[in-house]
Amino acid sequence: MPKWWEKEPLRFECQPDCFKCCLKPGIIYFDSEDIRNAADYLGISPSELKKTFLTRDDGEWVLEVGGDGAPCSFLTDTGCGIHDGKPKQCQSYPFWRENMDSKSMWKLVGGFCPGIDTGPMIEIGTIKSFLQKFRH
Ligand code: SF4
Ligand code: SF4
Repeated sequence: MPKWWEKEPLRFECQPDCFKCCLKPGIIYFDSEDIRNAADYLGISPSELKKTFLTRDDGEWVLEVGGDGAPCSFLTDTGCGIHDGKPKQCQSYPFWRENMDSKSMWKLVGGFCPGIDTGPMIEIGTIKSFLQKFRH
C-alpha cells in the first residue's frame, strides 16, 4: 500500500540562518562511514573524532546535543562546521522514519522546522533515498 507521502506532494526547503535542528537536544548517530567522513573533513583521525566529540550509547557512537543547553559541537556562526562531512542523520533531516510515519506527525514536525511546506516539491525517490540513508 502506498505511503501517505506517495499520494500527495511534499515541499521542503531548509531556511537560511535557521539552524534550529542543530540546537535541539538529542543524540546524533555516527556509524563507521559517518565517523570516517567527519574525521576526513576535519583532517583528524577517526579515533580522535570519537575521543573528542562522541560517546557510546547502547553500542553505538553518538554525539550528544543540548544536554547542557549547548548547541551541536559542530555548529558555527555560519552553519554546520562539517557540512560536507556531516552524518547521514543530519543529511536526511527532516525525512526520518519517525517524522514520515503519518501526515499528522509530519505536520507536527512542521511546527518546529520552518523548511517544511515551503520551497520545491521533493520527489518520492528522493524521500525514499533519505529513508534508506538514515534507518533509526
Ligand atoms: S529546522 Fe528545518 S529549516 Fe531549520 S535548519 Fe533545520 S532543516 Fe533547516
Ligand atoms: S553535525 Fe552539523 S548539521 Fe548536524 S546537528 Fe551538528 S551542526 Fe547541525
